[in-house]
Amino acid sequence: MTDELMRHLLGPAGPEVTCEICFAELDRYVELELAGADAETAVAGMHAHLDGCPACREEHDSLLELARAVR
Ligand SMILES: [Zn+2]
Repeated sequence: MTDELMRHLLGPAGPEVTCEICFAELDRYVELELAGADAETAVAGMHAHLDGCPACREEHDSLLELARAVR
């Protein structure tokens, strides 16, 4: 069993990110990603949330795309 699969079965090990937190941190998270910084360390649990929440994932993807286009 992979670590990835374990995490899906057991749920997030770290602090749980809700959609509210996700939405509040999304700008910053995308900025860090684009800057090549360690976005996941800055916003712990964010990646797990995006992995498990299609709505936020979509929001993240479009925001990332937009941020890339602006640059
Ligand atoms: Zn969400």
